[in-house]
Amino acid sequence: MRENAPDKHDATTVSDATWAVHGGNRIDSDSGAVRTPIVMANSYLLPEDPSGMDWSTADRLVYTRNGALNQSALQDKLAALEGGEAAAVFATGVAALHGTFFTLLRPGDHVVVSDVTYEAVWRLFDELLPERMGVEATFVDASDPSAVAVAMRENTKLVHVEVIANPTTRVADIAALAQIAHDGGALLSVDSTFTPPPLYCPLADGADLVIHSLTKYINGHGDAMGGAVIGGSELVARVRGDAIVDVGGIISPFNAWLIMRGSVTLPLRLRQHVESAAKVAQWLSEQDAIAYVAYPGLESHPQHELARRQFGDFGFGGVLAFALDGDSDLQNRFVAALRIATSAVSIGHDETLIVHVGPSGRGGAEHYPEEFQTFGHLRLSVGLEDPDDLIADFEQALDACANSASVSPRPYA
Ligand SMILES: *Cc1c(COP(=O)(O)O)cnc(C)c1O
Repeated sequence: MRENAPDKHDATTVSDATWAVHGGNRIDSDSGAVRTPIVMANSYLLPEDPSGMDWSTADRLVYTRNGALNQSALQDKLAALEGGEAAAVFATGVAALHGTFFTLLRPGDHVVVSDVTYEAVWRLFDELLPERMGVEATFVDASDPSAVAVAMRENTKLVHVEVIANPTTRVADIAALAQIAHDGGALLSVDSTFTPPPLYCPLADGADLVIHSLTKYINGHGDAMGGAVIGGSELVARVRGDAIVDVGGIISPFNAWLIMRGSVTLPLRLRQHVESAAKVAQWLSEQDAIAYVAYPGLESHPQHELARRQFGDFGFGGVLAFALDGDSDLQNRFVAALRIATSAVSIGHDETLIVHVGPSGRGGAEHYPEEFQTFGHLRLSVGLEDPDDLIADFEQALDACANSASVSPRPYA
């Protein structure tokens, strides 16, 4: 195999769009195939004298759990897209998150974590890691750097936040948090699933590790799960050694290949997701029947200015949360009346996804803004359909709810 990508270290000299196409790709020297083939082998040929080998090595191809061809191609691509030295890819985003915490934390260590966070991370820090590993966690409003500074302790080893928090869309100031973490002798890990490159690269603002659910925008097609940890080579090698080789949550070669393919169009797709989400958010915010819209691109968003400064020109992501001014039954009737958006969890797929979550439907919901606690929320991941079609769909669904007419079934389902 030889790489046909621009040299890894030259990733800074080509744009993200170019790197998204070529990064990590290897031409198959046997067949001449110009795209990296899927290599489903579990084992790779050993050297002539393997007797003294390190069986846990990820430095050469030995065993697919240690890392194999498709995984390493994807790692090369992701590391360069995020501006990191190295990446480690996992079976899911949660495996990458857990793998990071498992590697960095010991009994007696303390973590400062955002009080609005992905459901599994909430449970890991609220229950599983404290009870099973003796890790202490303090939940704070991560959009308020002074709250994070106050929560730091002598034994704080890690600060963990989401750039845009799922589901409230609250925005964290990564440069400020990196400073606070480092001043306190801790590392900053950042879940950037809502803000993949080229929208934002947290390492450039001082984050030590960036974590992605590849399941979302980076794959983008709703058909493969994966996770990644990206950062400096030493830290990433520790995560790989502790949490992949000896814990085992590696991604399959096939899923790595699918995500490699999906990510070719990441910059293009993301541009459309962001543009459409801004349009939909604006339209929703102008409707009387809508109680609130949370989207960092709206001037009403509490961290709108920070988001503008932090994300620059690219925009504010493709996810928003909102609710109709009414009870839970009304939110359900609205979702049932939609003909384009699909009622399903996940984000960042090509299709628009919507999920109705009640006021106390998630771990840590008591920390959500008041309007989330009053009305619950509809989390909307704006897909790649024509945004005018999406808006027309929302309009007819609002009308259907207003007329409380019986809702006709979706054309497909
Ligand atoms: C989906 C998601 C995860 C978990 O990723 P999986 O691939 O589903 O395990 C973590 N963080 C955020 C912000 C997510 O949206």
